Amino acid sequence: MRQSQLFTKTRREAPKDEVAKNAQLLIRAGYIHKEMAGVYAFLPLGLRVLKNIEHIIREEMNAIGGQQVSLTALQDKNLWEKTDRWDDAKIDNWFKTKLKNGSETGLGITHEEPLTNIMSEYVSSYRDLPAYVYQFQTKFRNETRAKSGIMRGREFLMKDLYSFSATEEQHAEFYQKAKAAYVRIFDKVGLGESTYVTFADGGIFSKYSEEFQTVSEAGEDLIYVDVQKGIAVNKEVLNDEVLAELGLKREDLIEKKSIETGNIFNLGTRFAEQLGLQFKNEAGELKHAIMGCYGIGLSRLMGTVVETLSDEKGIVWPINIAPFKAHIILVSSSEESKARAEEAYKVLGEQLDGVLYDDRDARAGEKFADADLIGLPYQILIGDKNQKDGNDNWLCEVKNRKTGEVQHVVLADIASAIK
Ligand code: ATP
Ligand code: MG
Repeated sequence: MRQSQLFTKTRREAPKDEVAKNAQLLIRAGYIHKEMAGVYAFLPLGLRVLKNIEHIIREEMNAIGGQQVSLTALQDKNLWEKTDRWDDAKIDNWFKTKLKNGSETGLGITHEEPLTNIMSEYVSSYRDLPAYVYQFQTKFRNETRAKSGIMRGREFLMKDLYSFSATEEQHAEFYQKAKAAYVRIFDKVGLGESTYVTFADGGIFSKYSEEFQTVSEAGEDLIYVDVQKGIAVNKEVLNDEVLAELGLKREDLIEKKSIETGNIFNLGTRFAEQLGLQFKNEAGELKHAIMGCYGIGLSRLMGTVVETLSDEKGIVWPINIAPFKAHIILVSSSEESKARAEEAYKVLGEQLDGVLYDDRDARAGEKFADADLIGLPYQILIGDKNQKDGNDNWLCEVKNRKTGEVQHVVLADIASAIK
């Protein structure tokens, strides 16, 4: 992509009412647009990041047997009444609206109800189980506080997977697989080192759940981390019983602020009972399916990466989710340098599945500042100061955005060096 043609521009200032660092940087760099508090549009660069995160998650979900669907945003009130989750006294963050005929509908806050209902039409025997179904979907939640940028949206993108098992053993086996897949996802998006599997409240369904909590000063949660063991306990369930169960000692735990980036739950048979998801087991007895749910917020992940990995100059994208892996920066107006930059754009664009090319007619200093703000992992400087190697090939100056380290590399070797 030629930067001269990218319709977004960088900005010196974020909107005055934007207090979250992630949104400030993402708005200034042109990744997102703030429509209103807690509601953000994703612009070309931002959408590429979101799609890269989606790609990583999809690969992991498919690898554990997930089947992708796309459920609806508009929800059938009747289903939610069956599980007693329609009443605003029970669920306080619904966005509800009325159809022309006066009947009510709501915008999906989560999708246990509609999916359990769909599954009840297809599952009748233990042979139909287990089944693992997931989607990437916009959720709508009328959050009271929406001051954390894209980390707490009133509409936001979530991957939610639901597991349907015939037996406790089947359920437990998949739960462990899903947990391992989540660990791989966090590694791949660049948050592996700062994310802890955290023992947390199980809500109304079971005693405990496990959250994936990423340590950050911007977090709204408090967790107690055992760094040696690599696990944590959410403050909300920190008590002697839990510590004993997990074999943790209070004095080994360090308090940290953190962001709940993912959450995995055992739902038991509650939804299956309320919505009639039954099957016949091997002995011919009618049983309810055991469910689990596995959520991860894509936009929250993206915001968390910005919160935790950026520096004073701007965003620093991990290579796997960066909108482009490289940023070619032309810092000369000579025809000769321009021709080399065009060549680099063509070659690297093909090899790296697209690059960003700053071909604008602007000062070098301005281009560098913008490139640091935008945060692509490698900046490739092309200008009159470039030297040639012993074989008469031009060397490009390749700068690592994170470390600042500079290397001089011939064009033909750049893509493989980056990969
Ligand atoms: P929180 O406790 O932060 O309100 P939650 O427990 O309600 O979140 P879940 O319903 O378990 O969240 O949703 C699964 C995942 O979706 C969360 O782990 C988080 O990554 C993401 N998520 C939840 N709410 C939001 C939101 N308002 N904006 C962006 N992502 C969200
Ligand atoms: Mg939570």
